[in-house]
Amino acid sequence: MATNGPMILCDNLVKIYKVQDLEVVALQGLDLMVERGEFMAIVGPSGSGKSSLMNILGGLDRPSAGKAIVDGQDLLKLSSFALTRYRRQKVGFVWQQPSRNLIPYLTVEENVELPMIVAGMPYAERKAWARELLDAVGLWERRHHDLPRLSGGEQQRTAIGVSLANKPVLLLADEPTGEVDTVTAQSILDTLRHLNREYNLTIVTVTHDPRMSNQVDRVVAIRDGKTSTERVRRVRAEQGELADEMVEVENASESNGVDVPEEQVTYHEYVVLDNAGRLQIPREYLEELGITDRAEVELTEGGILIKPALGLAGAAAQAARISQVAETWGPQRASKDWRLRLTDASRGIRGLLRRGTR
Ligand code: ADP
Ligand code: MG
Repeated sequence: MATNGPMILCDNLVKIYKVQDLEVVALQGLDLMVERGEFMAIVGPSGSGKSSLMNILGGLDRPSAGKAIVDGQDLLKLSSFALTRYRRQKVGFVWQQPSRNLIPYLTVEENVELPMIVAGMPYAERKAWARELLDAVGLWERRHHDLPRLSGGEQQRTAIGVSLANKPVLLLADEPTGEVDTVTAQSILDTLRHLNREYNLTIVTVTHDPRMSNQVDRVVAIRDGKTSTERVRRVRAEQGELADEMVEVENASESNGVDVPEEQVTYHEYVVLDNAGRLQIPREYLEELGITDRAEVELTEGGILIKPALGLAGAAAQAARISQVAETWGPQRASKDWRLRLTDASRGIRGLLRRGTR
């Protein structure tokens, strides 16, 4: 088993869903790297591809193209059999609805032990691991409870316990606090953070919850099926004797296991570049400057300046021109027109070929 290199490496990942004769591009060349032991969040508007990414990483769905490597295993190349094994052994999945992981007529402890029984874990090992897990998710006292008697937060924590029963290296959570109140959300978040620190468990979670994104190491934003921006949590740590000198330390491991006072935490926001050098400029910036399809790029001292190509007035005029053209040659008319021309052309070529063979 590969134990070095990043936990997750997605390179130019593409996911296309085919619905009848329509194609929906859910991921369009997404790049993502997640280090071992990281606790990171994915945010983005609804429909931006977050669940599609999680389902691929969880081995529940196949990517269409690109690279998705988890713990050294290339998910595009795994056979169905190997993918099932991957799903059982490598990853744990937590959903918005805890019920997707739980069997309602079993107790908390039985739910957590069930995947271990299926996996054939020996009795003593199973009992010990269940005990440890139930402690870790704060449910040991409630182990004999039936699920309907638990609160929403307790059910979700049971679901987290179930997802870790087979000792996965990666925990994936798709909006785990999406359906609960703030206090409960905090208890779920605390549980995840505890597991991350205690077991150096790599956790990727999708969230809408701003509080959640303030408590993870890194937040990656997805827009239109591509990673767009990234926010990294940094801790200002005092360096040796130079008490005044505060040095920023990239979070990941340095601050793990210690509760850092809020005032020492800062966030840095980055725009992500793919390996062809493409980046997504925040939409507000483009709108503000009236940049549509072209911009001027200038190397300045220590930076790159992106300017509207024609000056503001010119850009506005260009935008107006484009919308006028779009009105006259709407997408339908344009495509019909092209189809006609293509048909003419192919008829012409076929005619020539026929004549040539005679
Ligand atoms: P998010 O989780 O960010 O809301 P999703 O990954 O669920 O986004 O969806 C991304 C896009 O893919 C959306 O346009 C959605 O309609 C489409 N999509 C997701 N799952 C399917 C599916 N099983 N079949 C067809 N289209 C899908
Ligand atoms: Mg989703």
